[in-house]
Amino acid sequence: MTVKKQANREELPVKMTWDLTRIYTSDEAWEEDFKKIDEIIRPFQDFKGKLKTSSTILIECLKASDETKRFMEKLYTYANLKSDEDKGNSHYQAMLDKITSQYFNMKAALSWIHPEIIAIDDDIISEFLKDREHKFYQFVLEKLRRNKPHTLSESEERILAMLAEISNVPYKTFSMLNNADIRFPEVPDGEGGMVEMSHALYSKLRENKDRVVRKKAFDAMYDTYGGFKNTLSATIDGAVKSGVINSRIRNHASALQANLFPDNIEKSVYENLIRVVEENLSLFHRYVDLRKRILKLDDLDMYDLYVPLVKELDIKVSWEQACEWAGACIKPLGPEYESVLNRAFSERWIDILECRGKRSGAYSGGCYDTNPYILLNYNETLDSVFTLVHELGHSMHSYFSNSTQEYCYSDYSIFVAEVASTTNEFLLTEYLLKTTNDHRFTLYLLNHLCDGFKGTVFRQVQFAEFEKAIYEKAEANIPLTVDELNRTYYAINKKYYGPAITADKKIELEWACIPHFYYNFYVYKYATGFSAAACLSADILSGDQKKVAAYIEFLKSGSSKYPLEILKDTGVDLTTTAPILQGLKKFEQTLDELEELL
Ligand SMILES: [Zn+2]
Repeated sequence: MTVKKQANREELPVKMTWDLTRIYTSDEAWEEDFKKIDEIIRPFQDFKGKLKTSSTILIECLKASDETKRFMEKLYTYANLKSDEDKGNSHYQAMLDKITSQYFNMKAALSWIHPEIIAIDDDIISEFLKDREHKFYQFVLEKLRRNKPHTLSESEERILAMLAEISNVPYKTFSMLNNADIRFPEVPDGEGGMVEMSHALYSKLRENKDRVVRKKAFDAMYDTYGGFKNTLSATIDGAVKSGVINSRIRNHASALQANLFPDNIEKSVYENLIRVVEENLSLFHRYVDLRKRILKLDDLDMYDLYVPLVKELDIKVSWEQACEWAGACIKPLGPEYESVLNRAFSERWIDILECRGKRSGAYSGGCYDTNPYILLNYNETLDSVFTLVHELGHSMHSYFSNSTQEYCYSDYSIFVAEVASTTNEFLLTEYLLKTTNDHRFTLYLLNHLCDGFKGTVFRQVQFAEFEKAIYEKAEANIPLTVDELNRTYYAINKKYYGPAITADKKIELEWACIPHFYYNFYVYKYATGFSAAACLSADILSGDQKKVAAYIEFLKSGSSKYPLEILKDTGVDLTTTAPILQGLKKFEQTLDELEELL
């Protein structure tokens, strides 16, 4: 038997690695810039207390703070990407530590600016805005100053800042238990042996074709978490209470509204999402029922939901083939998009192969003063081709926003962040469906798409509904006991999976193992982003050039408007239910095709 050894970084072909000399030509050049940090940060003290005195001073301060942040981000990006090449390289780890600590120093040195701007009287600001140069900063100021009714006095803010670290303790406790202390028992590994279960292994074992293996893994998971249920209900309770109290201190109507506030999103967007998905749950029930029939089970349980319906395709996709597919599927986006995408390959924006010590997974990174960079661990599976186009979606979004907008309007919100990446995944799916005549490949693609809706729309909205429910309970002074959490979770789970499932009672504890319930109303963004991408990809493929142009404009708009408005300009209006309904329609069509082929 030959054992394939992992390559060392030096052994990788240069053309398969990213070119970080485009950021700094050498480590020495980085060190030169690093030495300048203190002299760049120091002058900020001169502005302090003076921002309301003149429009010119305020503008100068805003400009200087943007330039400082840009300078620091470039330094940080280089050290961060370098250290990800080989986590065992202590030279780059030290560089990253150095710049990270300076980054915090910078944030501290600039931290007085926003509160001081918020405190300026309205009439002074409107006077300032008559200045032409000031107009440019109008939206920056508006976004800051809408916090005014939610900002307290200086001394109160200081107390809150001192307490802020404590409000993170519930999540930190959960995280420590979840990542460091928890031990799972041994379970069957599906190959005749036993193996100590872990989070990563659980994801694999629940896909195992042997039902006993799946059930044992499921039991191991929930029995283990069950042993900590009181602790974990206390951490959730702490996180929720902290959110509720914070929203009250800051004069928000509810915790939900406090968390939607930064993106300027109405509560109805969140509520409509839940309502519309709920009204269409029969579609999801059809999918669950299809699963039951294909797996030929009399009773489908929660641990049967992840076995692939279509056997894993044994095809290897070479890197060249992946690039060709990526290039072909985005063609409908037009020549401008295509030419930037080509640069990602020709200018070596991508670090493609796995090697010893390299960070796992995939991401798109970079900053305003660099091109985007993509880290991959490409392994020739179809999934890794989807990862490539996904990350390219992020990178193109960053490229277009950075090259169109000034720095202060370049950074797009998390709310829209997954739209461009997911749109590319839709485009790849549609391209491959159109060009293949392999029956099994078609099945794989349709199933992949259905699973996308299952994981990103239905499951996330289920979470969003649970999250809303527990915050509302806390706001009504209903204690979040284990029983209360179990009952609430089980009822929602039952509603979502429908009559085709006979859910093992243990699933009521799922709330205990989901980190996202500590992320403050985050998960609904997965569902809105996925639905928006379903609509946009359909628009792009319709061939309507106006719609393609609107999409490119979307990529270029950064944070120059509120996220809902940016999306609305493409025709996707999330203040209505239309995009969610259109997304669900796409799910229905895919399901129809899948059912017919199976
Ligand atoms: Zn992403």
